This record gives sequence, structure tokens and C-alpha cells, in this order.
Amino acid sequence: MRLEDKLFLNRYQSDKHSHLRITDRDACLKCDFKPCTYICPSKVYAWSEEENKILTAYEGCVECGSCRYACPPHVIDWRNPRGGFGIQYKFG
Ligand code: SF4
Ligand code: SF4
Repeated sequence: MRLEDKLFLNRYQSDKHSHLRITDRDACLKCDFKPCTYICPSKVYAWSEEENKILTAYEGCVECGSCRYACPPHVIDWRNPRGGFGIQYKFG
């Protein structure tokens, strides 16, 4: 089963407030490999050549916590979503 198919089985209760933010955008400009763009299983982070910054699609976060450790300068401020929001795992 492909990862994309597994992720499709999940349900999300999206908050209008993001539970993650990048605290220092200048750090991203100096970040060579931008690991957030490939460590996240849900592809929440994407580098925009047009905007010259990381875009975040927080609604698809599966709350694995990996991005907090993968960012070399630790500029990702990730918190658990507020109560009632976030991913709802169908199979635990
Ligand atoms: S890994 Fe961290 S510093 Fe690098 S691009 Fe992603 S958020 Fe920015
Ligand atoms: S917690 Fe996991 S799924 Fe959510 S943004 Fe970070 S790496 Fe992606």
C-alpha cells in the first residue's frame, strides 16, 4: 500500500490557526538541503522559488514530530494542535 493511500484513510479536523510556524525565515535562506521538505511524511513543507520561502500546509500534519528534530537550526516551532483539532487516526 502506498504512503499516499494510507494517509488518505486518515481524517483531519483542521484548525484555522496553524500549530506550527517558522521562527526565523532567514535561517531557511541559508539552509542548504532544507530537510523539512523531505523528512515530513505528509509533505507539509515546500520550498517556493517564487516567494523564496518555505510554505507550510499544516492541515495535513500527522503529528509525528519529526520536523522539530530535522531542522538544523531548530527554527520550527511545532506545538500539538488545540484540543479537538488535528489528525484523527482511523486505525490507531
Ligand atoms: S529545515 Fe528548518 S531552516 Fe531548513 S528550510 Fe526547513 S524550516 Fe528552514
Ligand atoms: S509533525 Fe510530522 S507530519 Fe507534522 S509537519 Fe512535522 S514532520 Fe510533518
